[in-house]
Amino acid sequence: MKILCIGRNYIDHAKELNNPVPKNPVLFIKPETALLRDNSAFYYPDFSKNIHYETEIVVRIDKLGKHIDEKFASRYYHQIAIGFDFTARDLQDEQKKKGLPWEIAKAFDQSAAISNFVELNDYPNIQDIHFSMEKNGELVQQGYTKDMIFSIDKIIAYISQFITLKIGDLIYTGTPLGVGPVAIGDKLVAAIEGKKILHCEIK
Ligand code: MG
Repeated sequence: MKILCIGRNYIDHAKELNNPVPKNPVLFIKPETALLRDNSAFYYPDFSKNIHYETEIVVRIDKLGKHIDEKFASRYYHQIAIGFDFTARDLQDEQKKKGLPWEIAKAFDQSAAISNFVELNDYPNIQDIHFSMEKNGELVQQGYTKDMIFSIDKIIAYISQFITLKIGDLIYTGTPLGVGPVAIGDKLVAAIEGKKILHCEIK
């Protein structure tokens, strides 16, 4: 099982980090050891002083596929979740400056928090979903999947040219505007269409 993540998939977020709007999806991968399930606490790691939350819609692949055509991509998923792509922004900025890969900033243990899955039957248009996140009771981030630069089906078509998708793989589909730091003691709560399904305390 692997965790595939898309960076810079919302124009407003690309701009807030002074990144160009990409021509193709920006892909990176986290290992299975990054998963943080069951509303478990996130323990602030020693190697960073600037951990950011990024709230993202996550798609679960439920069919094996390679070279998937965009028009058939929706057959490859039936469940979504909401997650946090925790990022060591200080390490990422250093890596970016040097033109080096992002793994130490993105793929560390617990960096992929995820809610339970919900059936897509309840959300007939995956590109018309509202999601949001409250930090300590205050709304700090929200997005609409219709604002993605690359739709979920385009992302699946793109990734599967290079990498075989397997049952259980997860795709973090990018974060909208409003990323920010977390501190020990913060309580993060994320929602899909107002339903609060991911809780994470920073310890
Ligand atoms: Mg992200």
